[in-house]
Amino acid sequence: MAKYIFITGGVVSSLGKGIASASIGKLLEARGFKITIIKCDPYINVDPGTMNPFQHGEVYVTNDGAETDLDLGHYERFTNAVIGRDNNITTGKIYNSVINKERRGEYLGKTVQVVPHITDEIKNNIAKVAQGTDIDIVLVEIGGTVGDIESLPFLEAIRQFGLKLGRDNAMFIHLTLIPFIRSAGEIKTKPTQHSVGKLREIGIQPDMLLCRSEIPLAAEVKEKIAMFCNVEPQTVIEALDVKTVYEVPLCLMKQKLDDLIMKRLRLKAKKHDMKDWQKNVIERVKNPQNSVKVAVVGKYITLQDAYKSIYEALIHGGIANDARVEIQRVDSEDITKDGAEHYLREVNGILVPGGFGNRGIEGKIEAIRYARENNIPYFGICLGMQTAIIEFSRNACGMKNANSTEFNTKTPYPVISLLEEQKTIKEKGGTMRLGAYQCRLKKHTLSLTAYKNPKISERHRHRYEFNNKYRGIMEKNGLIFAGINPQRDLAEIVELKNHPWFVACQFHPEFKSKPDKAHPLFAAFVEAALRYQAKNS
Ligand code: GLN
Repeated sequence: MAKYIFITGGVVSSLGKGIASASIGKLLEARGFKITIIKCDPYINVDPGTMNPFQHGEVYVTNDGAETDLDLGHYERFTNAVIGRDNNITTGKIYNSVINKERRGEYLGKTVQVVPHITDEIKNNIAKVAQGTDIDIVLVEIGGTVGDIESLPFLEAIRQFGLKLGRDNAMFIHLTLIPFIRSAGEIKTKPTQHSVGKLREIGIQPDMLLCRSEIPLAAEVKEKIAMFCNVEPQTVIEALDVKTVYEVPLCLMKQKLDDLIMKRLRLKAKKHDMKDWQKNVIERVKNPQNSVKVAVVGKYITLQDAYKSIYEALIHGGIANDARVEIQRVDSEDITKDGAEHYLREVNGILVPGGFGNRGIEGKIEAIRYARENNIPYFGICLGMQTAIIEFSRNACGMKNANSTEFNTKTPYPVISLLEEQKTIKEKGGTMRLGAYQCRLKKHTLSLTAYKNPKISERHRHRYEFNNKYRGIMEKNGLIFAGINPQRDLAEIVELKNHPWFVACQFHPEFKSKPDKAHPLFAAFVEAALRYQAKNS
């Protein structure tokens, strides 16, 4: 039977609970355990798929086609855990299921209540993930901050779950903030004491505290925290700010976090092996030989988290090429105002990521024209492929006002349009073309050179598609259909003849990139940017 580690957060949000959970997962894998990680999100949306990135950050897509919280991206980047639909549990999903059961009469006349019905549903959903698998340890991260009204049912559910599992099979880790008050030159433990007090009110006594802090915690501070929070001093772990998030597992390892978990859960494990991670990831991120400048042209640029996986995948592409990728975030609406050259003159590569809706589209198209005409490496992702096709239709094929029907239903050249099956769909949640689909790569293409394998599978999240009616004319003008979905004959990747590196794909490669295994297209893009830089400097 699997053992469980529940991870809660206190004091404030955005402390990096997702990174902490992923890092603990990484350490446990390094000690030979098979793990998985679940994220519980207390909001009422069934999934984050319908949320604006400004609200929620990126929507992370799993292989099985679920639209999930971006923390699941951290889990996949740090660990080998197989993450799918069931690894993200939201309040909306739980209520949806309970209400459907009630309508079917499954509660046999009972009054349906938060306790026990909602909490039971949460427990069943958590238990389901490891059932029938050989997973040794399940990590469960509870979103939000202890003290929030909406996370209460989740906390009650894990309290009950932990009790049932028994002391040796469940433990609780609480992530808190130890603020440093600059004017007083002191760090303060009171918010942590209050936050743990709140947890204990609910009946959860944490076994370990991860304390985010700007400065190292002195032994007496740790002892004070331990005393007032009722934990052993060695289980007060400091989580200092680090240069790269990929260093967090090593920081935790230095404080013997994995040994403490072994002891607490009575687990026997081999010695850890983090040497490869240290050598192939940390050292390369910290001391790269080269540096290259890449522009990401999008409309959610001001929000750090909106293109999380893209930014991470670019870092991974850098690691693969021993280079630091300096990311220049460009708001596509600024390009509409000031022109592409103003923002893109000095970059060595241009990337247009995914997106929805009309705002900022023309600026993206301008950026792509600039990349195409000036032989700057271009990488288009999802909407970045659709806009590349619109740009090529208008400026290289003479199709004036060509567009996607997403932005103009009356365009004379609907080069991007809805698939037949999408036309009748009214509901917005979970109805896009989602998850992994196959793609075949054509010979003598940049894509095949990157992947080294003609059969690939990548994750999707879009409604609109390239309109095959225009394939002939595009090919005649120099567009290469480098990747095709064999079942439906859909265009998955396009490239440009007579351009050093221009690759645009309908899928989202960023979701499959890892720090120690950069996605082939990101590695190839950064390589092309380095080549461009060498040639033009
Ligand atoms: N809005 C486009 C579509 O729905 C692109 C989606 C995306 O970039 N993820 O097809």
